[in-house]
Amino acid sequence: MRSSRLPAVKTLETFEFSFQPSIKREQIESLHELNFIDRKENVVLLGPPGVGKTHLAISLAIAAAQRGRRVYYGTLIDLIASLEEAQAAGRLTRRLAVLTHPSLLVVDEIGYLPINRSGAVLFFQLMNRRYEHASTVLTSNKGFEEWGEIFGDDVMAAALIDRVLHHCHLVNIRGNSYRMREHTELYRSLQSEVEAAEPARRTRRSKPSH
Ligand code: ADP
Ligand code: MG
Repeated sequence: MRSSRLPAVKTLETFEFSFQPSIKREQIESLHELNFIDRKENVVLLGPPGVGKTHLAISLAIAAAQRGRRVYYGTLIDLIASLEEAQAAGRLTRRLAVLTHPSLLVVDEIGYLPINRSGAVLFFQLMNRRYEHASTVLTSNKGFEEWGEIFGDDVMAAALIDRVLHHCHLVNIRGNSYRMREHTELYRSLQSEVEAAEPARRTRRSKPSH
């Protein structure tokens, strides 16, 4: 846990499945049994901001650490920055070996920021080494069809996706942001108050416009 660089403590116990009905609870619980790590399979969590991708990636990493597995967390940008720094210092091979070693690597936030070509090449090298060697949990707010744009190279992105998906559990989350839930509730309660106060206006509005 100390060397994992996890940004927060998030566990399965604190995850509210009721808030995110598009998530299959059994799939998430069975992933937390961690057989995918023994099988060197990957997990990809896709979905818009705030739906719990990072939460679930961290809870998988914590579960693995608790079972004595070596885990490491980084955002895509941070991982690439550390590879670039190592390359500049002539220590790329060593750094790649270090990042290939953990039984579970979390690559968080693919897609929020674009990657330059040399960064994309470095990340591809890392994922190529981890392929069929150790599990990676990846999160993205963008669908695979947009990964070419993120990595600035359609061919490399396709090769990356091919390796990632070969042995992979896909968790596609469609839903509202948990970060915004209080605002959503506030919005809904204000809206129902307005509607209760103005039944005539509501009826007018709900009529078809043609
Ligand atoms: P994402 O990575 O998809 O943008 P996060 O995992 O960072 O979203 O979630 C945003 C915040 O909301 C975090 O504090 C997270 O712990 C919390 N959160 C998200 N979804 C849930 C949920 N279903 N139950 C409990 N907490 C949640
Ligand atoms: Mg996140």
